[in-house]
Formats: sequence, structure tokens, C-alpha cells
Amino acid sequence: MKIAAVRGFRDVLPEESAVWQRMETQARASFAAYGFSEIILPVIEKTELFARAIGETTDIVEKEMYTFTDRDESSLTLRPEGTASVIRAYIEHSLSHREPVSKLFYIGAMFRRERPQKGRYRQFHQIGAEILGRDDPLIDAELVLMLNDFFTTLHLEVAVDVNSLGDAVCRPRYRESLRAFGESKLAELCENCHARLHRNPLRLLDCKEPGCRQAMADAPILTDFLCAPCRDHFARVQAYLRQENVSFALNPRLVRGLDYYCRTSFEVIAQGLGSQNAVCGGGRYDGLVEQLGGPAIPGIGFAIGVERLAMLMQTREHHLSSTPDLFIAPLGAAAESQAFSVARRLRHGGYRVELESSSRGLKAQMRRADKLGVRYVLILGENELAAGKGTVRDMQAKSDWPTAIDLALPAQTMIEAVRNVNS
Ligand code: ATP
Ligand code: MG
Repeated sequence: MKIAAVRGFRDVLPEESAVWQRMETQARASFAAYGFSEIILPVIEKTELFARAIGETTDIVEKEMYTFTDRDESSLTLRPEGTASVIRAYIEHSLSHREPVSKLFYIGAMFRRERPQKGRYRQFHQIGAEILGRDDPLIDAELVLMLNDFFTTLHLEVAVDVNSLGDAVCRPRYRESLRAFGESKLAELCENCHARLHRNPLRLLDCKEPGCRQAMADAPILTDFLCAPCRDHFARVQAYLRQENVSFALNPRLVRGLDYYCRTSFEVIAQGLGSQNAVCGGGRYDGLVEQLGGPAIPGIGFAIGVERLAMLMQTREHHLSSTPDLFIAPLGAAAESQAFSVARRLRHGGYRVELESSSRGLKAQMRRADKLGVRYVLILGENELAAGKGTVRDMQAKSDWPTAIDLALPAQTMIEAVRNVNS
């Protein structure tokens, strides 16, 4: 009997994990430039943390959480997102006493019991960042700028949508106007939206049902309801982004699924991922720290979906970073023993080297090298070996170069000689 992985939970195989690593390395580098440090959080929290932080009326809390009762009867939940945990830790360790501003990032698995499909899993991973202790427009712009740097360095073309969700002063008026509008379209809205109408009318704009989208096409927009301070804040965020030539689109229909967002919100959208095309979502959440029992400290953050970003990177790239620099094909036992030492020396020098077993014939070894996408193969036959040399085959040029490579050369010199064989 074969045992398969649980539905919605997947393995990340080497060709994909190489992409993950590159993404993580780049995130660490980009975020460090903006003064972020890593926080490593537990994957399990008390259920009430998410109920309070995310909101009882959200899809996540209503139906997507993996919640279970522990042996001591306490209710625990596998984290569906990272922000609540960051803030819980921030309050628990009184980080606000140490520094007026905390810039934290995290990388890790999240769990939501959604319908699994392309780009949507029950265990997925996020790279997230949060800034606690600043509420000025400059910092909002910096966060979007940092995201922009990250995507640009990875050579990914993405679109950034921004919106302002207003605050406790102006949003309630908008919510009422949206509710009234929704009432007038009741017959055209789906069942989910009927429930949203009373509990969380902003989510009417978020529904993916074509009927609802159409019905809500002429709905009032939040931009028209913003109070003067929110309008000014939003204008200044945009001005900073324009100053640095960050391209973005204003999307007044962008509402984030979670209750805690206010003012600046944004989403990063990528082409070529089908309907699961959001690779990052984020925004400001000024009341959240207080709501979770901490001091009145403002916050803003985002979370990038690792799986979706990996899909995007994989479709763009044929050359994975895990491709070896050199493939060594030994022919015969003596050659294998020599190859063993050469491979070790090159690896020690920082090169990726794949060494085949001499029990396989030359043809089979070449097929393997081809499959790995390696450009250069170093063939070690008994004859060459006697002279302390090897032959290089350039897999792209599909020919052997009689140039014999001296096996005693230092790693870097040898790799350079290999790469120069046909020039
Ligand atoms: P979506 O609208 O696609 O459901 P979301 O608004 O629920 O996304 P957030 O909670 O903002 O997403 O999470 C940030 C990012 O995490 C998303 O932009 C997406 O890339 C990724 N993400 C969210 N849920 C999943 C999932 N079930 N599987 C894979 N990635 C996910
Ligand atoms: Mg979702």
C-alpha cells in the first residue's frame, strides 16, 4: 500500500527548492538594506490570537483554520498567516521598550484549509515583513520600494496595485454606503455576499463571482470617502513612489481580506499564474497592536507567497542555479579514483561538480550530463590519465576539444581553462 502526501500539502523537489533558496537569499539581502532583522516564530498559536487579530468574520477564521484541542483542552491553531504572531511576540517581549521602531521579517509555512488548486495549497509559505512604530507616509513608500527592489533584482515583472482603506474616522461612512449599495443589488449577489453584506461589507468588492463583480461595478469607491488626513497620507505615499519611478496602479477596489487593515494597502500581481495571480499582499494596520493588548503602536507589513513566486521564477528561467559547473565522467577504475580527488578539489574551490560512477559507459554518462543541463564535461580515460590530463567536451558545441586539461591545476585555473576550451 502506497502512502501519498495529504491533499493540499506538497513536497518541494530539488529543481524548485533551488529557486526557493535564491528567493530567500534575495529577500534577506533586500530586506537587510532597509534595516530589517529576522524573527523566527512558532507555527502553533492559541486560537484566540487569530480570532482576535484576523477577525471572526473573515474566511480564514470562519472556515480555513486548522484548529485542534490539545490534551489540556486548550484550543490551538496552525498559523494561517504571520502578522498576528509577529505582533504577539512584539508585545510579549516588550520590543517597543527596546527600540521605537521594529523592522522584522519572517519566512515560514502557513496553513489554511482552502480548496487546493494551482497556486493554492493548504500548507504554503510566506516571506513577510512588518514595521512597527511608524505611521508616516515615507515608511509606507519605503516598504513598497523595498518590495519593488526585491522583485526587480529577481528580474520579475510584476504590477503593484495600491489603495487607501481609510481609517476609523472615514471608513465607517464608506462601509454604510457600500452596505446600502449592496442592499440595492441584493438579487444579483451570491449567497456568500449576502452574509458579507451585514458582517463585512467591504468584502463585497473582493468577491470573485462574475455576477457579484458586475453588480458591484458601479459601487461607491473608498477614495471618495477618505477624510482629509487619510487623503493627505495617501497622496504623500504616491508622491514618494513617483519620485523613485516605482510604477503602480491605483485600484480603488483593492480591499484586503483581513479586518485589520487601514490606510495604505497594496497587492503585487503577476502575469502567467492563472487566477491565483497575487504574489504579495500587504498594508497598514494601525489599531492591531492595541487590539491584541499591546500599546497603541502603528504597523504596516506585507506577505509574499513563496509557491506562486517560485512558479513565476520557474517559468522565466531555464537555467537553475543548481546546474553543476562541471560534470566529470571517469572511464575505468583508475580514472574514477583520480576523478574523486579532482572533484573534491574543485568543490572545495567553490564549484558545483557532479561526479559519475565509472561503472556507467561514456554514452550513459553523457546522457546524464545532458539531462542535468551541464555545459562542460571533463572526460577522464585511462590514456589521458597516464599524462595527468583530461579531455573537455562542450555539450553546447557537441564536440570534444582535444585541449587537454592539466588535472593538477588549482580549482579556479582549471575551471577557467575548461570554460575557455573552444575560444
Ligand atoms: P488570495 O486572494 O490569493 O486568496 P490572500 O489575500 O488570501 O490571497 P494573503 O493572506 O494576503 O493572501 O497572503 C499573502 C500571499 O500569500 C498571497 O498574495 C499569496 O501569494 C499567498 N497565499 C495566500 N494563500 C495561499 C494559499 N492557500 N496557497 C498558496 N499561496 C497563498
Ligand atoms: Mg485567500
